[in-house]
Amino acid sequence: MLILVCNVGSTSLKYKLFNMPSTDILVEAKTERVGRTDAIFSYRNNLSGFSEKLEEVPVLGYADGIRLFLRYLLGEKSGALRSIDELEAIGFKTVLAKGYYGVHELTEEVLAAMEAYVRVAPAHNPPYIEAIRVFRSLLPDRLMVGCFETAFHTTIPLSRRIYALPYEWYEEYGICRLGYHGASHGYIARCIRERAGEHFRLISCHMGGSGSICAIQDGKSVDTSFGFSLQTGIPHANRAGDLDAYVIPFLLSQGLSMEEILDGIDKKGGLLGISGVSNDLRDIQQAAEAGNDRAALAIDAFCDAVVKYIGAFYTELGGMDYLVFTGGIGENSALVREKICTRLSCLGVKFDSEANRALRGEGVLSTPDSPARVLVLPTNEEVGIARTIYEKVSAGELRS
Ligand code: AMP
Repeated sequence: MLILVCNVGSTSLKYKLFNMPSTDILVEAKTERVGRTDAIFSYRNNLSGFSEKLEEVPVLGYADGIRLFLRYLLGEKSGALRSIDELEAIGFKTVLAKGYYGVHELTEEVLAAMEAYVRVAPAHNPPYIEAIRVFRSLLPDRLMVGCFETAFHTTIPLSRRIYALPYEWYEEYGICRLGYHGASHGYIARCIRERAGEHFRLISCHMGGSGSICAIQDGKSVDTSFGFSLQTGIPHANRAGDLDAYVIPFLLSQGLSMEEILDGIDKKGGLLGISGVSNDLRDIQQAAEAGNDRAALAIDAFCDAVVKYIGAFYTELGGMDYLVFTGGIGENSALVREKICTRLSCLGVKFDSEANRALRGEGVLSTPDSPARVLVLPTNEEVGIARTIYEKVSAGELRS
């Protein structure tokens, strides 16, 4: 069953084509700098070995970008499909929609529900809505499926999802913790289940441009650092993470506009806000090494927040069998992993510093006698999405 998974960023489009149930990637493609005349397009057909990279190509919007990709996907030399009819479904790592928390066919009602939450996910929902509409107009007969990032977290008990606010706000407006990065944490949970069997206590740390920590009991999410929006939890690349709500009215009283405040929270905050250097941890690490105190502070604030969530989730889970790092920072920053793990000996982590420093890609960071096993596992959100769609279509739960 051929399933295409499309990951939509504010200026990027990434694609992976699978022939499920095999999780091998048949085609992998990416357009960066969507919206510009000097976009970069790379395409690889793993079946035929065809590979091409175009630089300085005009991709003025998602419609241009998607047409370009489809031309390659169906092309004589580059193509993996003879006809678009061979494609069973197109899956999207959609973020959230009002009232839809699982896996859904992307009908007009679902798109309207995504539009209703544009204010909650301003950086994520608009690009997805636009790209999905383009796909629908180009391929009106194909099944389009949204795997909402909130789906994995519907198993969190209400006592941990409810905010201590007037209960009517929960009932009337749906204000509660929803949680995100479901595709990534779900994928990690599945990897651990393959190693550990049905029963395990796992803390999954997805640390990237956007980060979240998730407590997982026997494969199910039981708590997460994200809240109603993606503005909560640990610091992100340029989003603040956890913030006292009363900072906002106070800053308003000081003469800042709401726009300026929100800009500070979701564009100029996070690692960028503290460090003043960059939103990319590589630059911040370099600056810290060169003696920049604010860069060092940003790294410490990030690691402190992660340690705090791990401690809280350890208690909620009643222990920790596995601790997993994933995402761009989790998979690549030995410094951040070391700063976090050396503080976890009280939670049964025996950390192997040398293994950590030597590690490239997947591996184990704990000593063989460590009560808690610490792993780095590269996430693969697209496989999780393709798998979910394959299972739902096979079970007749989605139109086939
Ligand atoms: P992601 O959003 O998962 O792609 O993660 C992106 C982030 O990972 C980047 O902004 C960097 O901060 C971080 N990152 C990637 N590679 C490295 C590296 N080698 N060392 C430190 N941080 C890295």
